[in-house]
Amino acid sequence: MIEVKNLTKCYGKHLAVDNLSFTVQEGQIYGFLGPNGAGKSTTMNIMTGYLGATKGEVLINGHDILKEPEEAKSCIGYLPEQPPLYMEMTVLEYLTFAAELKKIPKAERESQILRVMRLTKLDPVKERLIHNLSKGYKQRVGLAQAILGFPEIIILDEPTVGLDPKQIIEIRELIRTLAKKHTVILSSHILAEIREVCDHIMIIAGGHLVASDTPENLENLMSGTGHVALETKASKEQMEVVLKSVPEISSVKYEETDEHTTLAYIESKDGTDLREKLFYTFADARIPLLTLRLNKSSLEDIFLELTQGGKKQKEAEKKLAGKEEQK
Ligand code: ADP
Ligand code: MG
Repeated sequence: MIEVKNLTKCYGKHLAVDNLSFTVQEGQIYGFLGPNGAGKSTTMNIMTGYLGATKGEVLINGHDILKEPEEAKSCIGYLPEQPPLYMEMTVLEYLTFAAELKKIPKAERESQILRVMRLTKLDPVKERLIHNLSKGYKQRVGLAQAILGFPEIIILDEPTVGLDPKQIIEIRELIRTLAKKHTVILSSHILAEIREVCDHIMIIAGGHLVASDTPENLENLMSGTGHVALETKASKEQMEVVLKSVPEISSVKYEETDEHTTLAYIESKDGTDLREKLFYTFADARIPLLTLRLNKSSLEDIFLELTQGGKKQKEAEKKLAGKEEQK
């Protein structure tokens, strides 16, 4: 449905998007996740034809966004980070204007606008000037504009930024409703949000795609075997003495559960599974093990690891590039 190939964007000397490639399939909710400045908005602006790329290609249903902009754009509804609202228009005037711009046939305009206003709950404010609306309502007007024409693909750049919790819940519900009939791509720098609504997460950092998978697969793939949770019948001090004798350990985090037991999260130096070694070491020290298991890293851990530009990010990028090449 959408194919992005080797997309690169430089602002002067600054490389904002670096050789990004991915595909988007029909009927799912995709999340662009990444810290501020990662390149999310730049990518979305290029995908929607608002911005030219320095290099690379974007195909929307087979139409090149640069060579066949009309055909490509007619498949997309876009809510940019700063929606281009006309503050001196009323909601109804603005949506009518947007419908004209989108070349929605005259006979359908009124009914479509009514449908879109009902979906975004704008009915009660349709005669108000956009200027006088709250941030939440302005955002809904932007969304209404994106949905008009009911394009196959809806792209939303940080749709919940600046909204209060109640508005955020409403917008998320709306996104889920839309996803029943449309392919939705949204961006956010908030992991919880992406996890809540998206079927597929693309993590972007420093203009690179570092991961692209379902939330479940990301958790499983990235966890590996290098993290072990270990609970023993010993004090923290006793455990420290024993763990210091294991050279393969790179870091330990302790959590005292009660007076008699201690829980430790152990990371090995090269990702090896230390369970067996730990079992014998504690047996030799005559300290009973209560728990010994591989510890899954949370999506939070993964996100932090993958977006800080460190070793893990490089590894993930390489892995992903390898996968793409095999296709
Ligand atoms: P995100 O949406 O993920 O926060 P952006 O795509 O807005 O990231 O920005 C990516 C990088 O490009 C940032 O370092 C940002 O400062 C830079 N950038 C964005 N727009 C411009 C611009 N018009 N001119 C110069 N640099 C820009
Ligand atoms: Mg942005």
